[in-house]
Order: sequence, then C-alpha cells, then structure tokens
Amino acid sequence: MTMSSVGRPTQPQAAEGSAGHASLTGARALLQDEPLLFELGGWDKTGVDLPQAEFDASDLGDLVRAAPIGLPGLSEPETLRHYVRLSQKNHAIDLALYPLGSCTMKHNPRLNEKMARLPGFADLHPLAPAATAQGALALMDRLAHWLKTLTGMPAVAMSPKAGAHGELCGLLCIRAAHEAAGQGHRRRVLVPTSAHGTNPATAAFVGYSVQEIAQTTDGRVDLADLEAKLGPDVAAIMVTNPNTCGLFERDIVEIARVAHAHGAYFYCDGANFNAIVGRVRPGDLGVDAMHINLHKTFSTPHGGGGPGAGPVVLSDALAPFAPAPWVVHGSEGLSLAEHDTGFGRMTAFHGQMGMFVRAYAYMRSHGADGLRQVAEDAVLNANYIKARLSAAMTPAFPDGPCMHEALFDDSWLEGTGVTTLDFAKAMIDEGFHPMTMYFPLVVHGAMLIEPTETESRRELDRFCDALLALAQVAKAGDVQRFKGAPYLAPLRRLDETLAARKPKLAWRPEPTTVAPAPLAAE
Ligand SMILES: *Cc1c(COP(=O)(O)O)cnc(C)c1O
Repeated sequence: MTMSSVGRPTQPQAAEGSAGHASLTGARALLQDEPLLFELGGWDKTGVDLPQAEFDASDLGDLVRAAPIGLPGLSEPETLRHYVRLSQKNHAIDLALYPLGSCTMKHNPRLNEKMARLPGFADLHPLAPAATAQGALALMDRLAHWLKTLTGMPAVAMSPKAGAHGELCGLLCIRAAHEAAGQGHRRRVLVPTSAHGTNPATAAFVGYSVQEIAQTTDGRVDLADLEAKLGPDVAAIMVTNPNTCGLFERDIVEIARVAHAHGAYFYCDGANFNAIVGRVRPGDLGVDAMHINLHKTFSTPHGGGGPGAGPVVLSDALAPFAPAPWVVHGSEGLSLAEHDTGFGRMTAFHGQMGMFVRAYAYMRSHGADGLRQVAEDAVLNANYIKARLSAAMTPAFPDGPCMHEALFDDSWLEGTGVTTLDFAKAMIDEGFHPMTMYFPLVVHGAMLIEPTETESRRELDRFCDALLALAQVAKAGDVQRFKGAPYLAPLRRLDETLAARKPKLAWRPEPTTVAPAPLAAE
C-alpha cells in the first residue's frame, strides 16, 4: 500500500480479486486507489494564478492569520481526477437498481436537470424583487397547485427542506392549532411500532411524549389498540400510508375518524406517496397534515446528504397556522406573503428552488395520467420482486400483494450461519447496492426492497437472478462468501459501530508529516 490510511475508517486492504490476485498499487484494474487531498500535501502549490493582493492588515488586527492556511495544492486536472475517482467509488442510481426500501431511489430524468439549470431559475437571488422573479413565483404557485390537487388538500407549506423537516412543520402547525383552541394540554402523540425513526424523533423534538401503537399480525395498525390509547391528552397520531411494511392501511378512514372523534389530528407520513400518487388523495382519507418528499415521489436527486424538499399539505383546520411564506396573486402580479401567522418560519427564504423546478418538470412531463402510471408501475415492480424472490426468501407478510416495496424477514436464513447483514454485504460483490436492512424493526432481520417504477423487466430480472443465486449459495453452506463480504469493494467490511460512535470528521497530520496549521477541532 503506497497511501497512508489517515482519516479512513479501516486500512484499505490490498485489492484482491476473486482469483486471489492483488495489484501492487491498490488499484483495481483502471480504478485507482484515492488518498485524501490532505494526504497529498503540496501546501505551497495552488491551482489558480491570482495577482498578489494588496491589503491593509490593520483592519483585521490580531485576527490576521498567523500560520499558513493548510490547504493541499492541486492542479486543475488533479482536482478533477480526485473527485471523479471518488465518484467511481460511490454507488448511484445512474449505475444500477438502487433497492433501498422507503427511500424511493428512482431515476432522475435529465429533462429536470436541464430545466433547473435555466439561468432564470438557477441564477435567481432569493432577495431579488418580486417584480423580477415572476416566473419563479409562478412555478412555486403551480407546483403548490399540483401538490394540493394530487393530495386533495386545501393548503401547502412549501418551505420545509426534507421529509423530517416537513414532519416538524406539520407537528408545529398541530401544536399551534391546539394552543389556539385552548387544547395546549394535549401533549401525547401515538406512533405505530413500524414507524420511520423520524416520526417519534420529531414528536419528541416538539416536546411531545410518544406512545407506540401495536401492529396486527398482518402488518397494519391495530385499531383496537389505537382506540384504547386515544384520550383527551393526545395531540396527534402519526401514521405512514402505505406503511413501512409496504402495506396499505386498510382501516385508514376509520383510523382518521377515531382520531378526530378524540380531538386529535392525523399526521400522515407521506414518504410512500409514490405508491398511491394519482390513485388516492390523502385528503379524502381524513389526513390533516402530510409531508411530501419531492426527492422521493417526484424524482429529484437525493442521497449523500441532500438536498431534499418536504412541502407539507394541510387541511382546512391547520391551514391558518401554516408558516410564511406563500405566493399570493395581486394586481401587480405574484408576490410572497411574508407576514407571521404566529408560527414564524421554517427556514430562511422560500425552500429548495432547484428541487421545485425539478419536481414541477417531472409532473408536467408525466401529466396526471403519467403520475398515476408511476404508482401502478411501482406497485407492479415490487410485486414482481416479491413473487420471484419468494421462491427462496421468506416474505414477512406473504398474504396478498404488497404496495411499492417488498419486505422479507430472515427466517429463510435460519441454520445457514448467514445473517441479513452478511447477505447484504455479499450483494455488493455481485454488483448490487443492498436493500434497506433491519427496518422496519417489527420484522426480524428485515430486508426491505423498493425497486420503483423506473426499473425495466430486464433490470428487475438481473437483480432477482443475483439474489436467488446468492440465496442458493447461502443455503448450500458457503458461509465464507458472506462472512468476509464484500471482497471486491474498494473497502472491505467496515466496523460500522465504531464508525458511528467515533467518527473521524477531520484529518489530522501524522507526527512525521510536515504539518500545516491544524484544522478546526473535530
Ligand atoms: C424518507 C422517510 C422519512 C424522512 O424523510 P427525509 O426526507 O429523509 O427527511 C420519513 N418517513 C419515511 C417513511 C421515510 O421513508
């Protein structure tokens, strides 16, 4: 190994192929090993050529930098290559099916990218006078109209920047509505056991206590348990539909009715809207607030930390408590209402404009009928996977079809010595990103597979063939293929607990290195 491993979670191992052949450099064929930029050094080099600045240091007083800034020096091609090589080590929806359940990793149409790069959208400053931004305001207004129409809801708060941020917005609206009605004592929120972790986390963040609702053996909300737990101190229920087991909540209308009968609001986690868009309007089901992950259902790119967008649709009861801003039509054209309704704002400015443009382009290019087809094809693809993989793997809820994701448990691995984690790691060697693992928590060793509608039959078959072949090997007793996996990835199996508990967030020079100024504290 020529490169030092400072800042890496584990030592990169020699690049060993399936035949046990290791390269001398750590490369794998044309994929080179890549050090951190800081490991390259070159502190006195720079990729740009600027005239020496003349400035008067006296303005800065003792704040003037005393030590060199300590940035590694790279030429333009070195910089480009660094980032391109890093991107080659990462997985992307542009490379293969990305089966992460609950995440809706669908193709990002290039038309959306083209629209988002139009200078009128891309170069617009958020403080530009409304008169100069009529097109952008019109786009926000049209997108809001589509979101309200598709959900059957009268209002939408556009500014939240992720699903979880939308949850926060929705619960803050609910809290404001209860307080305005003299119901501020309602401080309990009911959440099903299978909920995404953001649901209880959001409720706790708002200052509410969280109580779990039990699940029936067929993976739905236990209505009797819900009714028993409702009471005069319950502020809201938070229910995902379709739920995180990939199942439609059959009793959803009744769930809404009993919640309302007890004076609670119905927050719906809309992350799985992709399964029902164009077919079911959540407003018709009795939902009071629901976030929509534009980066899931409406194809805007995500993963690797963002950006997302999580507009929240609101019922008539909650609409008066929506945060600013929103678009208003006046005699002078469109403008933004910025006045405070008592709630304040969720964020500076108006939300994720780039994501708005992409989502709107997606809606317009699909049309209403095309969006309905999205939901139908997403469900069809998931059921195709469920049917094919059931030949070797055990579906968690075998009875009836699933919605947009197929959920398996690990009972089919019993006695093989292979765990869900091992199986997922072996998938990497076969060219596939693992599915969501160990979520939802209600299913033992869960494997949650969401293909989305953008996968063709051929791609689905390639994926299923790979998993079925792996399953066969696991059952035949080749445990080592799984325990040591991934063998062929740039980095082998990582100590994930250590990485989570003690992340190395900053590079530190090794004692022997000629050190630049130390970086900010970890
Ligand atoms: C993705 C997801 C969320 C959170 O959305 P973010 O945009 O990641 O904040 C919440 N609930 C469910 C069911 C999800 O799949």
